[in-house]
Amino acid sequence: MRLMHCLGLSALGFLSLCAARDARASEAVTPAPRTVVIRARALIDGTSAQARPDPVIVIRGDRIAEVYTGGAHPAPAGAQVIDLGAATLLPGLIDSHTHIFLQGEVPEAGGYDVQLLKYPASYRAARAVVAARRALEQGFTTIRDVETEGAGYGDVGIKQAIDDGYIPGPRMFVVTRAISTTGGYNLEGYAPEIQVPKGAQLIDGPIEARKAAREQLDHGADWLKVYMTHRSWVDEQGALVSQPTLTVEELRAIVDEAHGWRRKVACHAYNGIGLQRALDGGCDSIEHGLEISDAQIAQMLKQGTWYVPTLAVYYYDPAPADTPAGKRDRKRAAVHGVSFQKALRAGVKIAFGTDVGGFVWSDPSTRT
Ligand SMILES: [Zn+2]
Repeated sequence: MRLMHCLGLSALGFLSLCAARDARASEAVTPAPRTVVIRARALIDGTSAQARPDPVIVIRGDRIAEVYTGGAHPAPAGAQVIDLGAATLLPGLIDSHTHIFLQGEVPEAGGYDVQLLKYPASYRAARAVVAARRALEQGFTTIRDVETEGAGYGDVGIKQAIDDGYIPGPRMFVVTRAISTTGGYNLEGYAPEIQVPKGAQLIDGPIEARKAAREQLDHGADWLKVYMTHRSWVDEQGALVSQPTLTVEELRAIVDEAHGWRRKVACHAYNGIGLQRALDGGCDSIEHGLEISDAQIAQMLKQGTWYVPTLAVYYYDPAPADTPAGKRDRKRAAVHGVSFQKALRAGVKIAFGTDVGGFVWSDPSTRT
């Protein structure tokens, strides 16, 4: 039985219980029972104003079939009953911005570059398997994984292994390689004579942009991810500046192609020109969106653009305060919270995203 199907909802204690069940099932020794009944103290159902007491959840096969609350409800004959005592149940969570192929870019461990330069693909895939399980164990039954960072189409394979029941993990939406421009993504800083791998597929011009989109969609991308800004720094006036990457024409080619496939486009955009191009080019979601102007918020509302702020990651490991990188890091965190609150008040559609992988997977994505 797949762990995510076993769940559909999550609770402390219940997760590890499901994990044990999954391990047995994956050895194909014991067929999963057809009906499972879960009892607990309370249920947060995501729609009621109050937690509902004494839930009884009936799961048939891999689906939640019935939910009862507020009193005793007899378990169907032959059902396996799991009594979680004082636990509170809630629906499976969704993390809209993850990187299972990234491991926190810890400087002492070689940072970002070592992952592309020294680690075999199999090593990175093995750690991605651990990351997928880790997401599930924290209650995320769905993730949108937004780029493999040089690991090609590895996310498609991990998703398939989860879907086929070989490994535990959440339902995944994957973007594969992501797209940026020449000068618009790592690895960088090496001698020009040396050919180094890049963490994203780099394009220049609308024709290359459309071709990259087609390739990625053809190889299994559920969404496309585009980098609309890259480097960022603080200028003489103390403002955050971000280098724009794709032109509106390049982005439009990608969006047009994706929409033709009935897929959507996520745009990494910090602020300024790149964020404006993301909106003008028809992005479906703005990732990070550290600094969004009032006019841009109005445009997001008009176009129905989703906003995926990633607040926590910018508080990790800032560089020393008196360095250019340190000033940038502090500015990024300072403006992000303000933009998030403005967008929330204005009624922009907001989805939860952590950017985990940008910080280590062993850190909690949620706190209880
Ligand atoms: Zn990210």
